Amino acid sequence: MSDTSQARRARSLETRGMTKTFGHFTALGDVSIKVEAGSFHALLGENGAGKSTLVKCIMGFYSATRGEVVLDGQPVTIHSPKDALAYGIGMVYQHFTLVPCLTAAENLVISRADVPAVIDWAKERKALGAFMETMPFRVPLDTQVSQLSAGEKQKLEILKLLYLDQRFMILDEPTSVLTPGEADEMLGLLRGMTERGEITVLMISHKFREVKTFCDHFSVLRRGRLTGEGDARTASVEEMSRMMIGDTEVRARAKRVPMKERTDVLELAGLLAEDETGLPAIHGVNLKVRGGEIVGIAGVSGNGQSALVEALSGQRPLSDGEIRIRGEEFQPTRGNFYRFKVFGLPEEPLKNAAVPRMSVSENIAFRTFDKPPISSLRWWMRPGPMKRKAQELIARYNVKTTSPEAAIETLSGGNVQRAILARELSSDVDVLIVANPCFGLDFASVADIRSQIMEARNRGAAVLLVSEDLDEILELADRVAVMSGGTISYVSPIEETDRNTIGQHMAGH
Ligand code: ADP
Ligand code: MG
Repeated sequence: MSDTSQARRARSLETRGMTKTFGHFTALGDVSIKVEAGSFHALLGENGAGKSTLVKCIMGFYSATRGEVVLDGQPVTIHSPKDALAYGIGMVYQHFTLVPCLTAAENLVISRADVPAVIDWAKERKALGAFMETMPFRVPLDTQVSQLSAGEKQKLEILKLLYLDQRFMILDEPTSVLTPGEADEMLGLLRGMTERGEITVLMISHKFREVKTFCDHFSVLRRGRLTGEGDARTASVEEMSRMMIGDTEVRARAKRVPMKERTDVLELAGLLAEDETGLPAIHGVNLKVRGGEIVGIAGVSGNGQSALVEALSGQRPLSDGEIRIRGEEFQPTRGNFYRFKVFGLPEEPLKNAAVPRMSVSENIAFRTFDKPPISSLRWWMRPGPMKRKAQELIARYNVKTTSPEAAIETLSGGNVQRAILARELSSDVDVLIVANPCFGLDFASVADIRSQIMEARNRGAAVLLVSEDLDEILELADRVAVMSGGTISYVSPIEETDRNTIGQHMAGH
């Protein structure tokens, strides 16, 4: 827009005593952070620590209970995101906010607060071209947004902020939708701009690798309080995680036991399944998983992973191909799950694998007591053995609940996940299918769940781990497969590949 060639100047921003209460609950208590002009500052914290609340207070989405925002040394009053925009503070959200059916150029122009009623497109297009010339990265301006890759969309979101002259950028987990290559490219570009003093970035992230590689400072929140800050280049990952989790005990990771003479247990042969519109959601999926092996399926969200998991769990019909277990055809029906000892941890287990209003102990008991046919729930008549079994599992799997009788929906996400995994792993497991098992969980839960998965493998289970978190796959998998465009495009033993190679296949190269 105006004067793009003029000196771009990054701004500094401080919060002083920022406090936000919801009823009696203090989501944010007296948080003061200072983000220097031209720095790339990370905001760290576990789920629920108050990160979003803090940036929403800065952006004027929430009015803070107490505290103030200080911009370039001057206290400012921000009542709404519109006020924030006027002060040059902008935010890129975790999901895209672009209009898919418009071109990149149209999206930029309509985002302006002063967009004229009648747009002179020839003039705007020329101004945009000139603006683009000054940018360190480009996006094709005349392409419809729906045709852009996730990386290009994310870049366009950032270009939009620059176009609106918002030099203080808040990014909420900006790389979760990108391939590792796209993420590194985008963060590298932002890093360059901060180094040249053109912008200041405050980035919410939970990826230590990105924070260590690109950021210069960091602040940590825990339960709404500032619990630490420092230099991201010199602080160790251990120090940062300790500030995030306090004295919470984190289970030591289960070790990978070397396996000899593994045999094929699960075989996917030419799987084809269609989406709601009749187009192939997955096609030509061929993969073998041996007993005592974890095969991790990596991929950017939306490349057929959910359809694959649905097909394996019997929620989506196969149009072609066959699932085999120890050479025998496997139809994913309830009875067969028992017979073939196939167990699973679906995404969002509270929704997909539990009865929210029933107790923890009842939910855990489903597997053990609910033998098919499940025409009645008569086993409830004998609560004694059910409760004893449940109590044993609650203790073994570290499920934190006020009582075995509490409704499972009152548990935190990590504890629901632990409870369901306890149930699924409580008997003999031949095949374990898990999808994004640690998504959104706290450190302690992540450690518990990954250990349980590794232990199931060590006991000889064939594990298929579908995950959008590449670090999770690198930690757990014996072999990695990449899913791209609905099919498996790459398979390799984990020790013969690396993040870069996997990332390129994720990007479809
Ligand atoms: P983070 O972004 O670090 O995961 P949030 O800032 O979203 O955490 O949430 C911090 C705490 O405040 C959480 O316990 C959350 O449940 C609570 N919280 C956030 N927004 C609201 C709201 N609108 N009403 C009530 N509680 C909220
Ligand atoms: Mg958040």
